[in-house]
Amino acid sequence: MMYQATENRYESMPYKRCGNSGLHLPAVSLGLWHNFGGVDQFENGRAIIHRAFDLGITHFDLANNYGPPPGSAEENFGKLLATDLAAYRDELVISTKAGYTMWPGPYGDWGSRKYLLASLDQSLKRMGIDYVDIFYSHRRDPETPMEETLGAVASAVKQGKALYAGISNYNAEDTRTACQILREMGCPLLIHQPKYSMFVREPEAGLLDVLGEEGVGCIPFSPLAQGMLTDRYLGGIPAESRAAKSHGFLQKSDLTEQRLGQISRLNELAAGRGQSLAQMALAWVLRDARITTVLIGASSVEQLEQNIACLEKRDFSDDQLAAIEEVLA
Ligand code: NDP
Repeated sequence: MMYQATENRYESMPYKRCGNSGLHLPAVSLGLWHNFGGVDQFENGRAIIHRAFDLGITHFDLANNYGPPPGSAEENFGKLLATDLAAYRDELVISTKAGYTMWPGPYGDWGSRKYLLASLDQSLKRMGIDYVDIFYSHRRDPETPMEETLGAVASAVKQGKALYAGISNYNAEDTRTACQILREMGCPLLIHQPKYSMFVREPEAGLLDVLGEEGVGCIPFSPLAQGMLTDRYLGGIPAESRAAKSHGFLQKSDLTEQRLGQISRLNELAAGRGQSLAQMALAWVLRDARITTVLIGASSVEQLEQNIACLEKRDFSDDQLAAIEEVLA
């Protein structure tokens, strides 16, 4: 049956201005890194995307290499854009990236102009669209001048193949330089995508300050530490979980006894707030005013629904924050 978005889809999701730009993003965005590739069940991914859009998620995050196999998440999303979502392109913010290994040889990796612009053309073709909303340099290439990598992103914007420029995984110092370079190119940096969660705190050591000062938005990825900051692993490693999958990026060895001890104590703190651990972990990332939106993954509609409900309780008392720090110390 043809998908029709619910009429009340904009009634509950908050939208926030991305840095100093004119673009508003939903408090929760959905990423297609896992669960939407060629190895996954297409109908499951389709149901998750329908539900996400119905709940007000307008922002879908991809990259050239998402799958597996690489490129297949964009192909699958392209199928939905051509059918179910065809009527809604102007209600969607679609992101893609280039920077990690994509094809063999010297032009399918890192940060050359040659790679980034060819990759973006391939991404547009796979998704069957004329432009993406945000095009990211997926990682800093230390061997290539930043002017070249970011110049390629700015060219994509000037050519109309992307509307906004993004960077991901750049450290604080490089981010400051990137802001200046892109500003001089007349293409201000819209957004930074760093890894940030209760378990990964690096952005607090300078990056968030730079983003706040420069008026750049922030979209943390893996806010649930790939599922560790949920109750998923409290009773062992479920067969269908990311940690159990051979192509998943979460390793069984990440679930050390010490980690599981922390997860269990955090789970109790969340229960004390009347939330699931996943909901508390997402609310915690959103507590900082410099965070624009939190970029989640989900392998089922139920997970998505549970996670979006984090928005029902976002405030933390000083005591609650201190108790969390004590567990993480
Ligand atoms: P999360 O930390 O949100 O982890 C998502 C995974 O956690 C799910 O796939 C699921 O795993 C599990 N999970 C989610 N909700 C629940 C729940 N309520 N209860 C139990 N388990 C749950 O994010 P991701 O690591 O998936 O990253 C999100 C997005 O960030 C990616 O899709 C991508 O767009 C982006 N990203 C960007 C990177 C970059 O370099 N820029 C790198 C990595 C990600 P399970 O399969 O076990 O059910």
